[in-house]
Amino acid sequence: MRHMVAPLPAEFTGLIDRFGRKITYARLSITDRCDLRCIYCVSEGMRFLPRNQLLTLEEIARIGRCLTELGVTRLRITGGEPLIRRNAIWLFEQLGALSALHDLSLTTNGTQLVRDAFALKAAGVTRVNISLDSLQPARFQRLTRVGTLSKTLNGITAAIRAGFQRIKLNSVILRHHNHDEVLDLARFAINHGVDISFIEEMPLGLNSSRCATYYSSDAIRHDLNQVFELIPTAERSGGPASYYCIAGTNSRIGFISPYSHNFCADCNRIRMTAAGGLLPCLGQAQSIDLRRVIRANPLDDQRVKSAIYAAVMLKPLGHEFTHAVTSTLTRCMNMTGG
Ligand code: SAM
Repeated sequence: MRHMVAPLPAEFTGLIDRFGRKITYARLSITDRCDLRCIYCVSEGMRFLPRNQLLTLEEIARIGRCLTELGVTRLRITGGEPLIRRNAIWLFEQLGALSALHDLSLTTNGTQLVRDAFALKAAGVTRVNISLDSLQPARFQRLTRVGTLSKTLNGITAAIRAGFQRIKLNSVILRHHNHDEVLDLARFAINHGVDISFIEEMPLGLNSSRCATYYSSDAIRHDLNQVFELIPTAERSGGPASYYCIAGTNSRIGFISPYSHNFCADCNRIRMTAAGGLLPCLGQAQSIDLRRVIRANPLDDQRVKSAIYAAVMLKPLGHEFTHAVTSTLTRCMNMTGG
């Protein structure tokens, strides 16, 4: 969709949307490609974008700089699998050098971390989220269609050795697929001294079996409460997660509950696809074509900043996630950037 991009207001005081929410966090997808094919993420027969439609790493670095100059203090790099993009480390180095940035983080499936963990830490990455949905090799392969569990486990070990400020596992829990592993995954996180978030599957991409696989955060919490004492914390990320400490451990457990606990009122984030689509809301289809703006204005950052501001002004009050198949967004998470 093409929108008119108005200049930044003269009295600009930050990226504040129509509902008074301040946007300080951006998630940037740097590729739609992935070396895994998780069943809830990538649809069967998924076609990836031709390379010339992706933003270059230089363009992404420029957008990252513009975002921080507009008041964004946290950037998360995601995909697809960000670490399979050639020269990705160069981008982390550019972003890590931005003085206004407080927090540079990464979401990864872990398969490349044995190679990249130390370089990422040296580039200034503070926090890493690593996706891990099963500890059973055959099941891990079924859920990822092509993955090998040991590669991700070795990646987790490498990340721990590199010494990031915070490592968090992300587990999407699906009824009949891995809901019986909630306790094992939590024990794994505790034994490795890392955090873990359990995620409700979001209705992105064409998948008609969401209702059958839905397993709520409340059900997961109920399972955990049989064994662990969960102590609520006040920590909020401005997103869909709520966090608990696990008594007697250093690990925290998060619940990411887009269905059962609406989080839109506190939302502080925008997302960019690998093709430069700036999405004010994960759960709505609207976007601003930042690639067109950045390519038409190679020397004019004001135009880029105005386009970012315009996307924030489009931010709706809330997402429209429901279990209804008809309301499913056809955009998969690997295109959006999770
Ligand atoms: N390749 C990286 C990874 O595996 O973490 C980054 C991209 S992946 C799209 C980011 C996160 O989105 C992962 O934790 C993944 O589990 C999650 N995700 C993907 N599709 C999802 C869906 N339909 N519902 C909930 N989470 C989803």
